[in-house]
Amino acid sequence: MFHEPTRRLVQTAVAGILAVPLASCGSLPPHASSAHATARGRSVILITVDGLRAEEVFGGVDERVLGSAENSGIEYESESERVRAAFGGSEPESSRSALMPFFWTEIVPNGVLLGNESRGGGVRVTNRELFSAPGYIEILTGEPHHDVVSNDPIRYPYPSFMEYAKAGLGLGYTDVVTVGSWEGFATLSSSQPDLFLTNVGFEAVKPEYATERMRWLGEIQHDIISLWPEGRSDAITFGMSVEILQEFKPRVVYIAFGETDDWAHQRRYDRYLDYIHVFDSYLNRLWNLLQSMDEYRDNTMLIVTTDHGRGHDPKEWVEHGAGAAYAGSEAIWIAILGPGVPARGEFAPAQAVTQSDVAATALKALGLDYRDFNPRMGPPIAAAFAE
Ligand SMILES: [Zn+2]
Repeated sequence: MFHEPTRRLVQTAVAGILAVPLASCGSLPPHASSAHATARGRSVILITVDGLRAEEVFGGVDERVLGSAENSGIEYESESERVRAAFGGSEPESSRSALMPFFWTEIVPNGVLLGNESRGGGVRVTNRELFSAPGYIEILTGEPHHDVVSNDPIRYPYPSFMEYAKAGLGLGYTDVVTVGSWEGFATLSSSQPDLFLTNVGFEAVKPEYATERMRWLGEIQHDIISLWPEGRSDAITFGMSVEILQEFKPRVVYIAFGETDDWAHQRRYDRYLDYIHVFDSYLNRLWNLLQSMDEYRDNTMLIVTTDHGRGHDPKEWVEHGAGAAYAGSEAIWIAILGPGVPARGEFAPAQAVTQSDVAATALKALGLDYRDFNPRMGPPIAAAFAE
């Protein structure tokens, strides 16, 4: 259905402005056929949060962890009681809603959430490493790359879906953006340096693009001591993202948060839960910002996922990787919301979904055919599109 209009579209792309033939697109809901939708074309916002387990997404607080000081790493009983009161609940449904209220009251009921293994809908990582860089490059390129075996900031010769979308849609430098808390997101999201606007790690935004607020965020990021020196506070990444969305209104956006993984590696289950709640509020504020802007309202697909799971074992939730002790690291989840995304809620598709399917899903939402980019990559997630 997307094939022919898409190819025509790519061939006639001019100077960053494109008349996307959305009216011919089967996934467009009737109410979205407004003038701005046809003039601008759809946007995609991909958000990742590092190592957020399916256990917490689908079940909220894991009492196997929180109930044991040894497992949770929480020294003071009062802190365990605090997070239990805030995010606990007698049922998984009430706990997960307390932990991630926006996710469970807005994203899931109005979109699709994949990855609940207990319902037969598990989503898997297909790279063998089950840590960050291999996961992100699988998400961004649509296939595992088995030579990516470290988190060193290496630029690999594997183009991302973002690079393909920039070329295919004729987008400009600030129409495609990566914002992330760790420097590795620059090299992982593009095989070519400085192809599009990127602000990662402790970088400042280039002076020619920086607003007053971007400059300020670039300064105060050094005043906030993050848990690990490799990454800045996600609050800076969130603030930069808001400012960049408002200033440049990019079409293809990747926002990468990381503090879940930091607190987990530190074995601080209380702070890991606190952070998940903050992350949910980032999603809430970002989605409300998008819906408040003509460029994005009812014209934007939001994809939220994670690079890897963590150990299922209540002692091993801290770590992740290929070892048997960390079984569970291969289990992830993917949430998708936007116009044309059927309101399926928690969903277990007949066909298995993997981490490699995110990139083609984003391309399809943008009106591009992944097979023209890389026929080996994972296909679009069918559940995210109306039949
Ligand atoms: Zn990690």
